[in-house]
Formats: sequence, C-alpha cells, structure tokens
Amino acid sequence: MKNKSITPARCRQRPLQVNLAPLTNSLDAETIVQRFSSYVATTPCPLCNGHEGTLIETRDRHGAPLPVTCCRGCGLAYVDPIPTQDELARFYAQRYRKEYKQALTPRLKHIYRAGRVAIDRFRNVVLLANPGARVLECGAGGGEFSYLLTRRGYRLTGIEPNDGYREYAKSEYGVDLRSGTLDDVSFSEGEFDLITIFHVLEHLRDPRDGLARLARWLRPGGHLYVEVPNALTGVSSPANLYHRAHLYYFAAPPLVALAAAAGLTPLLVDGTASRANLVAIFRKSLEVPALEQRSAHNDVVAANRHRTLGRYLRSGRTLTQLPTRLWMRSVERAIEKSASRGRDILDRLFESEAPQTYAAAPHNPNSN
Ligand SMILES: [Zn+2]
Repeated sequence: MKNKSITPARCRQRPLQVNLAPLTNSLDAETIVQRFSSYVATTPCPLCNGHEGTLIETRDRHGAPLPVTCCRGCGLAYVDPIPTQDELARFYAQRYRKEYKQALTPRLKHIYRAGRVAIDRFRNVVLLANPGARVLECGAGGGEFSYLLTRRGYRLTGIEPNDGYREYAKSEYGVDLRSGTLDDVSFSEGEFDLITIFHVLEHLRDPRDGLARLARWLRPGGHLYVEVPNALTGVSSPANLYHRAHLYYFAAPPLVALAAAAGLTPLLVDGTASRANLVAIFRKSLEVPALEQRSAHNDVVAANRHRTLGRYLRSGRTLTQLPTRLWMRSVERAIEKSASRGRDILDRLFESEAPQTYAAAPHNPNSN
C-alpha cells in the first residue's frame, strides 16, 4: 500500500528485513514487516486480549528493529513481543544507561530542569491533597519532586530503582526513598492519599497489574496522578518517539479503561495532539461509573501516519523554540558556575517559584 507519510529515511528502509529480536530471543525469525500493515501480535493485548493490530513502528530512535503494534480492539500500542522479566532485567542492568546516556548521579543542569518540571506538577498536587497528606512517588529519579513535596509539608515516600540517583537524592535532600521497582515494594492497603507515577507506566511489563497495585495502596477517595508519553502527540519529533525501554504507548481511552479495571475513576485526562505527554488524574472509587468504551486504534494509527519528520520540520517548532532553548542553556550554564550542589539549586528555585501551601491551623475551641 502506498503511504504518503513515509519519510525519505523510512523509504530507504523498505521493504524491511527485520530480525525481530529487539530485547529478546523469543522471536528470531527473519520477517518482512512494513509500517501500517496489518499485524498479528505474538503477545496478546493486555487490555482486551486481542492479537490483531496495525504495525505503527518498526524501528526505535537509533534505527534498530522495534516492532510496535496498535491493538485493533482497544488502541493500546505496545512493543511485540513484550520482553520477559529476565530480558528486561538484563536490559536495564547492561544497556539502559549506555543507550540513554544516563549519568551515575544527576548533573546540576538536569537538577535545575527537573526542579522546574517538579514545580509544574506540584501545581496539580496542591489541588488534590493538603500538606500532611501521605504521598507515594513511583519513580522518584533524582528526587527533585520528592524534595519539593517534603519541603511543603507532605509526608512523602518515593520508590526509585536507579541506585546512583536514589542514593544521591537521599543524601542530598534527606528524602525517604526506597530501592527497587513497583514489584519490589509493598505498602498497606489504603496507606496513601495521593500516588504519583510520572513516565513509569510505559516501562512496566504489565501496566494492568501495576495500576491494580497502586489502587490497592490508595485510600478510598485518594488520587492517582499519571503522566506518560502521549500516543496521539502532534508536537513531538518522530525521530525521538519510539524508545526501546518503552513497552507501551497510551492514548486516553486505553489508559482510562486500564485504570477503570483497577477501580479508578478519571477526573481529568489531557491527551490532545498539542501535548507531548498525556496527563491523567484518577480517583479511587468504590464504584467506577460505566464509561463509554471506544477503540483508539484509528486515532493512534492516523497520528502516526501524520507524524513525519518533514511535517515536524515544516511546523517551525524547532525554530520557534530556539530562543527559549538558548535562554535556558545560558541559565543552566550560569547555575553550573554558581552552584556546587543540587540542594542549593532547588532551595533557590523552590523559594522563588514554587507555590506556597497553607496547613490548616489547629482548631482552638476557646477562640471566637
Ligand atoms: Zn487491545
């Protein structure tokens, strides 16, 4: 089938002789695959159990084979086959840091950037929970968001599997971070008022199980605040989108359906094409209202057909963002010269830019 949205680089790759062994040895047969052809997945869709889909990507951002299918039944997009737990453990131990240029500990300019992102997210947190609330951050990274919440009076616990980042955050900011992944930790039922999970769900082998665990740890009426890459984004460069460590790509309907299966009711789901990330806030309910179930398949496939490098460059986005980027670089350079530690950077940033919170004063029965 002729496809007008294929970039020149992709044209040269076709027809594609792919050794389908991205992370795994489970499939080693040479197979001819073509973007946007119908595809029968080895791994059934974890949301609707279907196998039939459309192949929306064949290569990761480094050009290595990476089949990503979009399930016809529900529109959940995922890498096929989903690697086994052992294969994932090997990947994170041996290749993740090397392929994605992860440093052993966060660099000062990255701390500043992450601190700014933490402030944006904190603006939603203050609407969901008061200071004093029990908060769990899944995937705390370098600890910037955990530190901001701790500073503003929230009782925060974080989970972070990366040893270097976690230990840095614990010693630099004194935050309470646990080692491991969601599978390695256990909390009491209903222990948390709020759980945040930013850019983690797409890494989990079984997001349905992951969401069920998080829902169990939330008290009834508690909130789950999720951020994942947006499968419908129209503003991200296609060259950077498909990432070997990401096993799933979510549009709003499959994410809402997965959360509903865990007893979570959507309050806000923002996954329009104008956003690079899909942001969603759910509430744990005793009864999840019946939601309209529709497949996001056609929308996800259309977004991928539309998302070409040519369109991205013609949109002028790289040019319009250039002044902001240059300004940010100069700020970051100044910070790296003037600050010697992460705590100084975040203290200054949070003091000047993060919203204040006001704990309710204890009730005094003798006052008027
Ligand atoms: Zn499905």
